[in-house]
Amino acid sequence: MLHQYDRRARSQRARRYARRSYAPAHAGGLLRTIPARVRIFSGIQPTGRKHLGNYLGAIRQYVEGQDRGDPAIYCIVDLHATSVAYDPRALPDYVYDTTAMLLAAGLEPERCVLFRQSDVREHTELCWLLSAVAAYGDLTRMHQFKDKSERDRELVRTSLFLYPVLMVADVLAYRAHEVPVGEDQRQHVELMRDIALRFNATFGETLVVPEHRIPALGARIMDLQQPDRKMSTTASEQRGLVYIDDEQRAIHKKLKSAVTDSGSEVRRAPDKPGVSNLIDVLAAVRGAAPETIEEEFAGGGYGAFKTAVGEEVAELLRPVRERYAELRPDEAALEQALAAGAQRARAIASHTLADVRTAMGIGPRASSLH
Ligand code: ATP
Ligand code: MG
Repeated sequence: MLHQYDRRARSQRARRYARRSYAPAHAGGLLRTIPARVRIFSGIQPTGRKHLGNYLGAIRQYVEGQDRGDPAIYCIVDLHATSVAYDPRALPDYVYDTTAMLLAAGLEPERCVLFRQSDVREHTELCWLLSAVAAYGDLTRMHQFKDKSERDRELVRTSLFLYPVLMVADVLAYRAHEVPVGEDQRQHVELMRDIALRFNATFGETLVVPEHRIPALGARIMDLQQPDRKMSTTASEQRGLVYIDDEQRAIHKKLKSAVTDSGSEVRRAPDKPGVSNLIDVLAAVRGAAPETIEEEFAGGGYGAFKTAVGEEVAELLRPVRERYAELRPDEAALEQALAAGAQRARAIASHTLADVRTAMGIGPRASSLH
């Protein structure tokens, strides 16, 4: 049994973390409670070059979050990358690629905490501890596990199965309120909430229950060649994705040859997944309603529309690509930024871990240390 005072102290602490500076606000006509200053956390895989879907669905939100985050914490999740077949010699380079890409997109190490997951050992320890409140049945229902285990049947790694729990640990270790992600991560964030609630109910109020932040536009960009599937770092073929650092001409070409249906009308419809996707892309690039895109390009045919999308996407990504080319060669500077970020991250995560360990009865009894 937990000592009553331990319980009360922990529950007060958790309330402090969860409610600090929360204020009521109107959102979408509903009165709901949103924090005035939030702790933000998100992770991104260093699986090679990142793409337009990552940029519109996640990275743009990371940049915006720097002003609201208390702090905004962003993690290059190299441990997650080992859950599918990968090249160990290339992985360190991929981490630098992704770091340089995030900095080029606008992250500033002084305004956020940017670090490499494996530098903060608390993530893996918390993953194991949270496994004690993660239901096996829930993990078997994860879409991503089903999709990725289908793709590589030769070896379905246990780490692919445990991936969502590590992701839960990534976020809960920082007592984050908000998790900016694309639509494909909705289920994983639900799992985070379930696990945090179950942990608190079982061991006493310790963890913050986070909420996803999925953008209204650009949350699910589809593969240009297979518009029924999301644009994906590991599943899409070269022609199906626009890399953030693609040359202008390559971007024009890829959008020109994007799959569309046999009609000619620029409008969204369930039987027009290719055109619908391009409308969503342009809407997200401009920050405009998809209806305004449909009106603008009505009657103009696919050709002119695809050219316009190609040009605007290329123009959006151009400054990021140029800055990336400047930043990527200086690996010492990238490493330095990551190391400094890890130090700040560890300072937060180690507190949470200490509380989680105490709550779970792991390690010496607190009273025997005095
Ligand atoms: P993989 O398909 O191998 O999982 P990925 O392309 O999803 O790779 P991640 O690093 O897993 O890349 O995702 C980073 C962020 O980008 C996540 O928040 C994810 O939700 C978002 N994201 C990924 N693909 C898309 C997409 N097609 N549209 C919008 N957001 C996306
Ligand atoms: Mg992914």
